[in-house]
Amino acid sequence: MAFQIVRDVCTACGDCEPLCPTKSITPFKGVYKIDAETCTECEGESDMPQCVDACMEDDCIVPA
Ligand code: SF4
Ligand code: SF4
Repeated sequence: MAFQIVRDVCTACGDCEPLCPTKSITPFKGVYKIDAETCTECEGESDMPQCVDACMEDDCIVPA
């Protein structure tokens, strides 16, 4: 399982990027993307997906 970033909603603020324990979030085409191969949904790291917790935009980071 993984999350994905909705590119039309992402403001490219970058707040999520440094918080990802698996370094799955990277700049991509002017916004950010999550690598579904490495996103663990923060399982074993924290109770809440860190990127979802950090993102200020509604429905920006959603289950892939
Ligand atoms: S859910 Fe966790 S592991 Fe997946 S992209 Fe967000 S911060 Fe990274
Ligand atoms: S915190 Fe949300 S709006 Fe900001 S870069 Fe990450 S996904 Fe985009």
